[in-house]
Amino acid sequence: NTVLAATGIVKTYGPTVALGGVDLGIRAGESVAVMGPSGSGKTTLLHCLSGILSPDQGRITLTTDHGPVHVDRLGTEERARLRREQLGFVFQQGLLLPELTALENAALPLMLAGVGRREAEARATGWLVHLGLAGLEGRRLGEMSGGQVQRIAIARSQVTNAVVTFADEPTGALDQQTSSEVLGALLEATVGRGRTLVMVTHDEHVAARCSRTVRLQDGQVISDSQPLHLTLGD
Ligand code: ADP
Ligand code: ADP
Repeated sequence: NTVLAATGIVKTYGPTVALGGVDLGIRAGESVAVMGPSGSGKTTLLHCLSGILSPDQGRITLTTDHGPVHVDRLGTEERARLRREQLGFVFQQGLLLPELTALENAALPLMLAGVGRREAEARATGWLVHLGLAGLEGRRLGEMSGGQVQRIAIARSQVTNAVVTFADEPTGALDQQTSSEVLGALLEATVGRGRTLVMVTHDEHVAARCSRTVRLQDGQVISDSQPLHLTLGD
């Protein structure tokens, strides 16, 4: 079953056509590696699919646990809410707050969703422990390794039980061994629970551990290892 369906996605920046009509259907439980040369539109596609950016043309439908949402028709506020409540994000850096502890960072999406502090911290602790960070809940980010910081980012992305998790070079700043371990943790936290992962990567080793690879060039999909042919109404 299709969890995310994008048809005819066009996004331009002035004269630059970043995406020139992309069709992409993603099934629940897939881990999709988005690859392609620098400037091919990978980040723009990720940002359109996840409601960070609004495409100029095209339709994007996300199937949440409560039914379909037409992401392209939402306003800025509604997209922000959708991202907070339904989607998970893991970036190379920058989404965590260095002045907060591991636990406070991981619990933040739940606090923003209005969950009480006690329950938010209990749920976030569960994720941190699950990700191998037991005992480090009170540490600030500056006192943790790159791999530990990315595990906190994974915990933060999953505490609200994201339907789809979007990652942009999530292991790009890590050495190969740590990268492999953090990628394993990210895959287990998402597709390991039947959820869906869409990940931009330059790394063929990372892509090889995903169930599907989509390659972009000049704003077009030029290959797809597991294409899903969308029909009208998806
Ligand atoms: P990738 O992630 O594959 O490197 P991007 O999606 O970042 O590709 O960029 C696709 C194209 O859009 C590139 O030509 C890039 O220079 C251009 N682009 C991306 N973001 C902007 C922006 N904010 N303003 C202008 N051009 C942009
Ligand atoms: P890059 O692809 O250049 O390494 P990132 O993927 O880390 O950069 O982030 C790309 C842009 O998206 C940044 O400008 C960042 O501010 C923005 N961004 C990242 N996450 C979110 C989010 N959850 N909501 C809104 N904007 C975001």
